[in-house]
Amino acid sequence: MAHPSIVILTGAGISAESGLGTFRDEGGLWAQHRIEDVATPEGFARNPQLVVDFYNTRRAQAHEAVPNAGHAALARLQAEHKGEVLLVTQNVDSLHEKAGSRDVVHMHGALNSALCGACDHRWEAPLKMKVGEACPRCDKPTARPDIVWFGEMPYYMDRIEMALARADIFAAIGTSGNVYPAAGFVQMAAHVGARTVEMNLDPSETVALFEETRPGKASVTVPEWVGDILAE
Ligand code: NAD
Repeated sequence: MAHPSIVILTGAGISAESGLGTFRDEGGLWAQHRIEDVATPEGFARNPQLVVDFYNTRRAQAHEAVPNAGHAALARLQAEHKGEVLLVTQNVDSLHEKAGSRDVVHMHGALNSALCGACDHRWEAPLKMKVGEACPRCDKPTARPDIVWFGEMPYYMDRIEMALARADIFAAIGTSGNVYPAAGFVQMAAHVGARTVEMNLDPSETVALFEETRPGKASVTVPEWVGDILAE
């Protein structure tokens, strides 16, 4: 195929070598908190200070982090591949953008964005958000991190599903396959006959659904895979 359409899904694993912990990292930020407390609307309603502090810490870490060879290789693929490349990430850091990627689809939101809980207005988040900050549009004290919490609907699903429906290649990188709907993308892509490849350190929950697996660190496997695609 001359110019295959490619859909890529990245997860916390691609940012691990940039020093941002994954969900499972022992002793990491996630290990110190229960998901229900820091990543659900109910947790935010119960203790907004804890949640705002948690994301302030993550935002500060992400602000300092630098992209690794995995992010850089995907930016190269977007720049050099002649067909469509849709880069979808579950990550809320900006390492894809820092590596030079454009049009990154942040399906779980972004640390550098704030959201009004009342009117859905979005604006650039300050490095340190405060509880009860006013929305610049409706002036209600309902600012929150623009993060898709468990129980909320991921963003851009129509766009992602349309791209998956015409995908020739689907790649999942650094994601454990635990969180839906992202974990179901491989099935959607396989359904339309796309080639599917997983690049992960450990086999994901959905590894059996992939045609090809390339185990290892993203900083190694992703540049190799991108080199192979561009050489096709
Ligand atoms: P996860 O933590 O559940 O899984 C990470 C996966 O990456 C694991 O399967 C692991 O084997 C693999 N991995 C670890 N180091 C790797 C490396 N160097 N190279 C390749 N693979 C590696 O992450 P997930 O599947 O993205 O979980 C989904 C949720 O976690 C999302 O909602 C996301 O928003 C959130 N999250 C995001 C970040 C971030 O933005 N950087 C960090 C932690 C969690």
